Amino acid sequence: MADTMNGHADIQLPDGRILAFSCLFALAPFEVSPLIPQQLDLDMYQGPLGSTVTTGAMKEASMPGVFAYGDAARPIASVALAVGDGNLAGVGAHRSLMFGSITHE
Ligand SMILES: Cc1cc2nc3c(=O)[nH]c(=O)nc-3n(C[C@H](O)[C@H](O)[C@H](O)COP(=O)(O)OP(=O)(O)OC[C@H]3O[C@@H](n4cnc5c(N)ncnc54)[C@H](O)[C@@H]3O)c2cc1C
Repeated sequence: MADTMNGHADIQLPDGRILAFSCLFALAPFEVSPLIPQQLDLDMYQGPLGSTVTTGAMKEASMPGVFAYGDAARPIASVALAVGDGNLAGVGAHRSLMFGSITHE
């Protein structure tokens, strides 16, 4: 566990030793804005770094007609996946509006 970080990316350990690095990659916890999931009482997936809205393959949440995608609904932060999931959610929302359900996903 690091005590302090100085200079470029030097880590000082609690015992005083200093480890020098050029850069650091950190795995940070995240939090989905809870307002809408709480109001709608959506099922959430609790992962090791934070919770995300649980969805089916077409990105429909536990409440029919509600869709979630991107970082809010996948514990893997990636632009490509967020864009792809957004596309699926759009198709899912369209099916939901046209046919009333997407249970045939
Ligand atoms: C430092 C950093 C580096 C990254 N590097 C990469 C990388 O190299 N490659 C990669 O693929 N991914 C990277 N990512 C991950 C990538 O940025 C995300 O996976 C992606 O932006 C998710 O898109 P999103 O639309 O789901 O969420 P976001 O991009 O977070 O968009 C959500 C938007 O909703 C808005 N919002 C939130 N709450 C509300 C509300 N109540 N009402 C209205 N608006 C609201 C927010 O302000 C925000 O604009 C990185 C992320 C970080 C933090």
